[in-house]
Formats: sequence, structure tokens, C-alpha cells
Amino acid sequence: MTKSRSEQFFEIAERLLPGGVNSPVRAFRSVGGIPRFIDRAAGSRIYDVDGREYIDYVGSWGPMILGHAHPQVQEAIRKAVERGTSYGAPTVQEIELARRIIEAFPSLEKIRMVSSGTEATMSAIRLARGCTGREKILKFEGCYHGHADSLLVKAGSGIATLGIPGSPGVPACLAELTITLPFNSVEAFRTAVDRYGKELACVIVEPVAGNMGVVEPLPGFLETLRELTRQAGILLIFDEVITGFRLTYGGYQNLCGIEPDLTCLGKIIGGGLPVGAFGGRRDLMDYLAPVGPVYQAGTLSGNPLAMAAGLATLDILSSQRADYDVLNHRTAELCAAMGRLFQAADIPVRINRAGSLFTLFFSDHDVVNYETASLSNTDRYALFFKGMLERGIYLAPSAFEAAFVSFAHSEKDLEETLSACAETIKTMKG
Ligand code: PLP
Repeated sequence: MTKSRSEQFFEIAERLLPGGVNSPVRAFRSVGGIPRFIDRAAGSRIYDVDGREYIDYVGSWGPMILGHAHPQVQEAIRKAVERGTSYGAPTVQEIELARRIIEAFPSLEKIRMVSSGTEATMSAIRLARGCTGREKILKFEGCYHGHADSLLVKAGSGIATLGIPGSPGVPACLAELTITLPFNSVEAFRTAVDRYGKELACVIVEPVAGNMGVVEPLPGFLETLRELTRQAGILLIFDEVITGFRLTYGGYQNLCGIEPDLTCLGKIIGGGLPVGAFGGRRDLMDYLAPVGPVYQAGTLSGNPLAMAAGLATLDILSSQRADYDVLNHRTAELCAAMGRLFQAADIPVRINRAGSLFTLFFSDHDVVNYETASLSNTDRYALFFKGMLERGIYLAPSAFEAAFVSFAHSEKDLEETLSACAETIKTMKG
């Protein structure tokens, strides 16, 4: 049988790149098969090098809330590129994007732009340690905050997909400073604060977890984090790299009414170009160099192309044209309809949804933390993934990721997704 072009390219890629990919979650290791090489994307669709078309629910892992190649975003990037691609000096666009973000988040007074979500969380942690003079940090199992050493302990996303507890290369002395607790457990958190409170610089959390699959905070969980951290002089960091501008115009903090001390952002604020940002109260942010002693820097930070793409994206999202209620409702309907299909076929699933993010867990247990997420049947997910891919639906090649619905997904796209789901279910029943 002749090989597809993706297969041919993957053979070359495996010789040149570890695992053939530049980020582990792109590999199809946990679901089998080989990754599709993508040629182009537009709206809700991506097209591979073999000319196959897919309805895309990965959305570059979150940034593409407007869909791919949005004309207004493309035009903004085109205009920016004509003026040069990087200056290493301040630009008006940086202030504009900063203003836009600060206006959207009540807890932000100042922000700093970086080039990825990892840089945002890594720098926020350094800032928290620098401000408090404490070294320990606390995170939750299954939450992924990028791949900085201190945060790569019991992290979700690719780490969960590959089933590894952490990563060799992270010095034990550093990992020891990271305390991990089950997400959504108020009791475990109380006990940890009693025990380590005075040593903790910060608590970092995805307020809605997206990297063990979607898991919403149970009532009282984030409230307890806020209350106890405030009492113990610990900084609370919301990692809103996924949730920022995803669930509403602003962050999950706008919806739950809890103000963290620091917030990390990425993905959507860069409109598909490499960006991250972290910010918070002025007194904390002014610990950063050049005002304060905590060092943080970046050659491409505030990159003009990324600022242009981010500004165009936020312009559209803040306008009447981007109705989050419609997007969230559409996603809810898709999830409900999928749920009915699985129920009719007697296949146990739990579908967790927050706004336009959802995860289908093949499980008969409610998923509220990493332990319960891990109970889901990953072999079944692999079958489902494969069946959907064959029918033109591109889902995350991992059972522990969110699916991302965009404003570009039409009713017709969702209908096609449901018929692919119905057909796939028939094959799964055997
Ligand atoms: N934080 C969260 C919640 C994420 O989901 C991610 C990436 O998926 C990151 C941080 C790291 O961002 P990046 O991949 O841009 O470094």
C-alpha cells in the first residue's frame, strides 16, 4: 500500500525531531497511528498534506477561539509585518494590548508580556518567591502550568498522557519545594496550609482545570484557596492561560468573583502567535526589574506581530459579534447530544464542560480531580479518537485534554460532528 504524505513526512520528522514532533502532545502515541501533517487552516477546519479536511476541536490547544485565519487577525498581522518583525524596544501596541487586558481583569493593575504560557507561570513563580522571601510552592495534581522545572511535578497534559509522574532532569531539590495536592480537596488544602503555610510563597491553580481534561472547581474550593492564602500571606496565582478570554471576555475570575494576587495568561491573547503575560497588583509587579530586584526579560517579549494578532483578537471578542453565551450554549448542546448518543449505546461517559471547553471521559465515575480522571478508559478513547479522525473530526490525540469549540464552528459543523460520533459509536460497540 502506498504511504500517505503524512506518513512519509513523519518518517523524515522522526529522524530529525525527537518523536517527530516539537511538542509531545502532538504525537499520536497514546491513541496510535501517526500525526497528520497540517498544510493550512481556515475557520473551523484544518487541512492535511494529503488533502483531507477536518473539523478542528484542538484549535492549536486553545488560542484559536475565533477559528483559523480570521480575516481581521490576518490583516492585522500583515500590516504589522510590513513595519518590521521585532525591535527590542517599546511599542505603542504593547501598551494597547496591556490596557485592553487590564481593563478586562479587575485584579490586574500591571502586566508583563512574555512569549509563552510557560514563561508566564515560571516568571510569576519567581516573582512570588522574590516578593515573599519563601521558597515552597503549591500546585494541584493534574494541573499543567507549562514545563518550567518547579511546575513539572504531577502535571497534567502530556505528562498525564504519557503516564509519567514528573520528568528526569528536574533536580530533586527543586521538586521537593513543590507541594502537590488533589484538585478540589478543601480538606487536603487546609491541612497543607496548617503544615507548610509559613514556607509557601504561592499557590498556583488552573481555576478551571483543562489539562487533566476539563474539571470545574467544586463550590467552595477556590473560595477556600483565597481565604487561607490571604490569612497565611501566601500569594494566590490563577493560571488562566487556557481560561483567559475563553469562557467570557476576561477570565474565570470575572465569573467566580475571586481575585487572585497574580494571573497568568497566554494562548488567546496572542491570537495564534507566541505570547504569554503575567500580571497582578501594582505593588507586586513592581518587584520586577527594572523597578525591583526580581529579574525577568525576553528578546521577543511584546513582539509586534503577536501584539497585533492579540489586539485584533480582543477587538473582535469585545465587540457585539463575539457572543460568548451563544458559543457556550452551542457547546452545551453538542455535549448534551453526544451524551445522549453514548447513553443510547450503553457506553458510560462523563462529559465535563466549561463554556466552550469540554472533555469526554469514558468513565462511569464523576471526574473531579486527577485521580478520578485517571479512572477513565483510555483504550476506548483511542478507539473513539480514531473513528472520529477517519470521519473528518480532529480531536486531541489524548484522553486528558480539553476540546475547544470556536466562534467559527457552525451549526452544520456540530451536526457533522454528531453524525460522525453516531457512526463511530456503532464501530465501538463492535
Ligand atoms: N498553563 C496552562 C493552563 C496551559 O494549558 C499551558 C499550555 O497548554 C501552559 C500554562 C503553558 O503554555 P505554553 O505551552 O504556551 O508554554
